Amino acid sequence: MNAVTQDLMKRFSVNEHCSSFIGGESVNPSGAGEDIPVISPITEQQISLLREASIEEVDTAVRTARDAFENGPWRHMSVDARKKVMLQIQDVLLSNADELAYLESINAGLAMGYVKGFHVVRTGWNFEFFAEVASQATGEAYTQTKPYISIVTREPVGVSALIGPWNAPLALCSMKIASCIAFGNTCVLKPSEFTPLSLRRVVELIHETDIPKGVVNLVNGRGHVTGDALVSHPEVDVVSFTGGTKTGAMIAARSGEGLKPVALELGGKSANIIAASANIERALDGAILGIYSNNGQQCLAGSRILVERSIADEFIEKFVARSKNIKVGDPMDAATEIGPVCYQAHMDRVLSFVDVAKQDGGELLTGGKRDERHETGLYLEPTAVIAKSNEAQVCQEEIFGPFATFLIYDHLDEALAIANDSEFGLVGYIWSDHLPTVMKASQEMRAGTIWVNTPMTRELRAPFGGYKKSGIGRDSAKDCLQFFTEEKTTTIPTETFPMAKWGASD
Ligand code: NAD
Repeated sequence: MNAVTQDLMKRFSVNEHCSSFIGGESVNPSGAGEDIPVISPITEQQISLLREASIEEVDTAVRTARDAFENGPWRHMSVDARKKVMLQIQDVLLSNADELAYLESINAGLAMGYVKGFHVVRTGWNFEFFAEVASQATGEAYTQTKPYISIVTREPVGVSALIGPWNAPLALCSMKIASCIAFGNTCVLKPSEFTPLSLRRVVELIHETDIPKGVVNLVNGRGHVTGDALVSHPEVDVVSFTGGTKTGAMIAARSGEGLKPVALELGGKSANIIAASANIERALDGAILGIYSNNGQQCLAGSRILVERSIADEFIEKFVARSKNIKVGDPMDAATEIGPVCYQAHMDRVLSFVDVAKQDGGELLTGGKRDERHETGLYLEPTAVIAKSNEAQVCQEEIFGPFATFLIYDHLDEALAIANDSEFGLVGYIWSDHLPTVMKASQEMRAGTIWVNTPMTRELRAPFGGYKKSGIGRDSAKDCLQFFTEEKTTTIPTETFPMAKWGASD
């Protein structure tokens, strides 16, 4: 830990306990749930104590959200009045950007400058964006069947369970909250038990605005305890989940028992195709950002880098040289490019793939161990391996760390076949200045998003989500509107029409 972090730790306090927040109040836990240490990946020390919400506490949170939905003002407010509150939320979040970025950094290990400049801004923007989506939403009218007009309106769906992962808590969960409440719903959020701090503060800050109590509630705890109680609660109408594929399948099954719609944003093992026709320097920059940014912990990482044989030696050599030179260190330090991975067991899992790669005939190109230059902190050397074939485990499993896997291909068709030989289908990258190559890759890759000559860029208006085991449903203005609202058809005759008079004759 450097001096900058020490100063920041003095400036921003972290609450000793991280409990639930229900009906506008911090919950004083009953003691029914467990206490779970929240550990910083920078200091490897406990920075707070998560007070796990018991089944009873989850019940209180859901019933509070239900009461706010049924009896509170939120869903009846005009869209403009709700928009005003959403913009207040954006303001209050951005006014506390330093603190939010600090909490995300100390807890999740993400670079503080990057969190402040990108994730916190996006967190605020989510509220403005979805307020605008709600205020621009329109209905439909059908007049073809005379003498009727059928109008289609949308109404809030009710109480939503929102469950998020640890890799980008602010950016991901704020989108869930914003897209849910913009349409008049109420919610209960459950952040990851590894990274509860920033979102706990977000929910607290949300209550500094005019938001009615009970619209946004938060429960903290582990997935199999608090998360499961939330998903299976009968008063929850829909479940929006971002996390791992196995968890997603469990949640879909649980939700299915209650016939609750689910949106699942899950894992990935995305192909990043570097064609010989690419601008190689830009492709190199993009491939490095594609795998190492956000400390390598991104669903949308370009983690399988497929390089055309004629440029492979030079490209991989440059990639390895750049990897060795990346600044790994304290995420509070402005110069840091990669911070620590999120928690110890995750670090062990990421490192275990080095041996797995070798056992499958692969070769370690660089990294593959803990960064010894730091006395404390879960720092990994940026790691790259070359695999023997796409069947290798490192090509099939999501590793979710600063761990790149290379494969070499001869023809575009071969690269596309490799790209699609995966149980995932979240995103695909293609680097090429040859239009037919780009178009073919865009058409043939079975993934929800294709990035051409660019590292990850989210366009909130456009759908984002996965094919295959990368998810069900999409995030976007239109998709969130559909997910968080119910459609209603009202049919009205436009004139008095003759009606059969059953039972009227003798
Ligand atoms: P995870 O699946 O372990 O946990 C995600 C959340 O689910 C946590 O809050 C956890 O407590 C909760 N949970 C776990 N078991 C549960 C259960 N039985 N019932 C209810 N809730 C439960 O995932 P993670 O390790 O936190 O996050 C990493 C994963 O998230 C990666 O696979 C990554 O690809 C994925 N992810 C996907 C996207 C996307 O947009 N597709 C974005 C970010 C992360």
